[in-house]
Amino acid sequence: MTVTVPVPAMPRRRKDPSEIRQPANGEKSVLLAAPRGYCAGVDRAVIAVERALEHYGAPVYVRKEIVHNRHVVDTLSERGAIFVEDTHEVPEGARVVFSAHGVSPAVHEEAAQRSLDTIDATCPLVTKVHREAVRFAKQGYSIILVGHDGHEEVEGTMGEAPEAITLIQNPAEARTVELEDTEKLIWLSQTTLSVDETMETVDILKERFPHLENPPSDDICYATQNRQVAVKKVAPGADLVLVVGSSNSSNSVRLVEVALEHGAKDAHRIDFAREVDEEWFHGVSTIGVTSGASVPDQLVHDLLALLADYGYGDVDEVRTADEDVIFSLPRELRKDLKAAGLETSNKKNGADRNHDLR
Ligand code: SF4
Repeated sequence: MTVTVPVPAMPRRRKDPSEIRQPANGEKSVLLAAPRGYCAGVDRAVIAVERALEHYGAPVYVRKEIVHNRHVVDTLSERGAIFVEDTHEVPEGARVVFSAHGVSPAVHEEAAQRSLDTIDATCPLVTKVHREAVRFAKQGYSIILVGHDGHEEVEGTMGEAPEAITLIQNPAEARTVELEDTEKLIWLSQTTLSVDETMETVDILKERFPHLENPPSDDICYATQNRQVAVKKVAPGADLVLVVGSSNSSNSVRLVEVALEHGAKDAHRIDFAREVDEEWFHGVSTIGVTSGASVPDQLVHDLLALLADYGYGDVDEVRTADEDVIFSLPRELRKDLKAAGLETSNKKNGADRNHDLR
């Protein structure tokens, strides 16, 4: 179905992504990937800060960006959240929220020493990887963590078992890494990597280290995988793919790479619609649109409105999966909300989940 944007309703859902048709000469259209945007871990983390601000009042400190999205961080800052790089910047005894990317045990210890009231908004799927790292290190495994150096999630996971973990970032490093123990060896990964590149890295490692064991379940999370599958469907039919997401959002950056690897002629990541360069539209009939797991859908609507101004007003949604994952709010917050007789589910003001940062 064709829609005129901006619109509150979403475009028609295609039941079968194989229905994607080629546009006629000169026809302009948009293929809108789905799933896209907010995942359950981001939704929970953002609502946790919103509910903390409502319940305790401003300021609420947040260690690191609660999720890697400029718009979300700016909006929460305006409401009274104070984002800091580390816990030593938080006044003694104040309340601090840990971001969705997770923290190492050392950060928890420092927060305890400073008597901080902590709300841990670490995504449960990141916590799962932390637990795996602790468990396998205790069992005497050497662990290869596939991930990106300097990413907060990787820092947190490595902090769980620093002596046992070796970080491998890509296939090139897999070809050259030297390990002391190659007999009892397992690999884990960051949750937001490219599935294809990770498997390439692991295949190289397995050739070199035949005893390498797989993690008990996928560490690359459902949301990362689903967004990559959707953009792979869209990319072959797109002259240009636009990914809404911030530069420090790992899964958003991966979506650009995946789009280019799977047939998009051109692809760009933008934080906001205003960053679109009209030069990109030269000779372009079909534009694929998607967004990273930390991006409110309003930013995608803003982009669709801008594309409509350039003649790309026909929008077809290409859906490859349905998502219904919801994580409950952090335990500490739920306890305080319950004691105050307030709604403790993952809802804003007990109303619905369609809040204004979505
Ligand atoms: Fe959790 Fe995955 Fe979302 Fe990260 S991208 S917050 S791991 S659901």
